[in-house]
Amino acid sequence: MDRVYNFSAGPSMLPLPVLEKAQKELTNARGTGMSVMEMSHRSKAYQEIIDEAERLLRELMEIPDNYKVLFLQGGASTQFSTVPLNLFSKSRKADFVNTGMWSKKAIAEAKRYGTVNIVASSEDKTFNYIPRLDKEKFSKDADFFHITINNTIYGTRYTTIPDTGDVPLVTDMSSSILSQYYDVSKFGLIYAGAQKNIGPAGLTVVIIREDLIGNAMEFTPVMLNYKTHAENGSMYNTPPTFAIYIAMLVFEWLKEFGGIPAIEQYNIEKAKILYDFLDNSSLFKGTVVPEDRSLMNVPFILPTEELNKKFIKEAEAAGFVNLAGHRSVGGMRASIYNAMPIEGVLALVEFMKKFETENN
Ligand SMILES: *Cc1c(COP(=O)(O)O)cnc(C)c1O
Repeated sequence: MDRVYNFSAGPSMLPLPVLEKAQKELTNARGTGMSVMEMSHRSKAYQEIIDEAERLLRELMEIPDNYKVLFLQGGASTQFSTVPLNLFSKSRKADFVNTGMWSKKAIAEAKRYGTVNIVASSEDKTFNYIPRLDKEKFSKDADFFHITINNTIYGTRYTTIPDTGDVPLVTDMSSSILSQYYDVSKFGLIYAGAQKNIGPAGLTVVIIREDLIGNAMEFTPVMLNYKTHAENGSMYNTPPTFAIYIAMLVFEWLKEFGGIPAIEQYNIEKAKILYDFLDNSSLFKGTVVPEDRSLMNVPFILPTEELNKKFIKEAEAAGFVNLAGHRSVGGMRASIYNAMPIEGVLALVEFMKKFETENN
């Protein structure tokens, strides 16, 4: 079987040239006579890989010098606990915007260690929009302010970054990191599970402003303390070596593609093809308000549950896989991360047109 168009929300498609390079180097990487998987993380050869991964990520995202880049494990879900443990250093209060399931999980963890103020929520409409924020509701003395900048399940994204003044803005960027330009200096901390737009599951990237390191709550486990990893170049213990290597290859691929400006244009173009079709279809319907639509995750529905099921089944048979919506919401969702080629989106829309004609 040939490669399929994989619309999975995560783990998701990786660029084919990355997989091919990894395959070529699988048994003998960079002239070492061994696989990256077999290298000591303390070896010179491996140090070069992790250094190169960090250097490329800094270059791509224009990360300022007063930020640390950490390569961690545990997924974005571990950050839901790690962030409050490290940032609840003064008032032990945090502001959160509730834009869906991942926000809720982050809120639930923060509540274990301090006071959470929900500034706004879009739960009233099944999270199909980003709520407008009223600054009056912000806590002036909060230790941090948390948003989920792209909502993977519901397909919404922030198009403007909230201005939280001196309160550090923290974001879960798991499903939109490297997909468009973000001004890193607007954030105190950015975290992302790798399996959406960076590389294999098992790696979690944290970008943190240096002044936010070193004030963790006293009972913070050593492995959850950012200081531990910042002081040890993400090598306090064995890092996810192979996942970091693949991430490095993805960063190289993205740089060659033209970096963030080029991929952002490409992603806008891809998303537009799909949204334009949905807006003009007599059968398919997008579920998100137009102004808050994600460039990465595009949820849509058909008039009946029966048609949803039929579509997912027929699409899969035609080589368009993983189009089912998240188990909590149903319907369909096409995740079109950086590695999804425009040809995949065009082919999907052609297939949807055909389905529309046959089922109208
Ligand atoms: C996938 C995802 C998560 C969960 O990530 P894990 O790495 O599985 O813990 C959290 N937040 C967002 C926005 C996601 O897309």
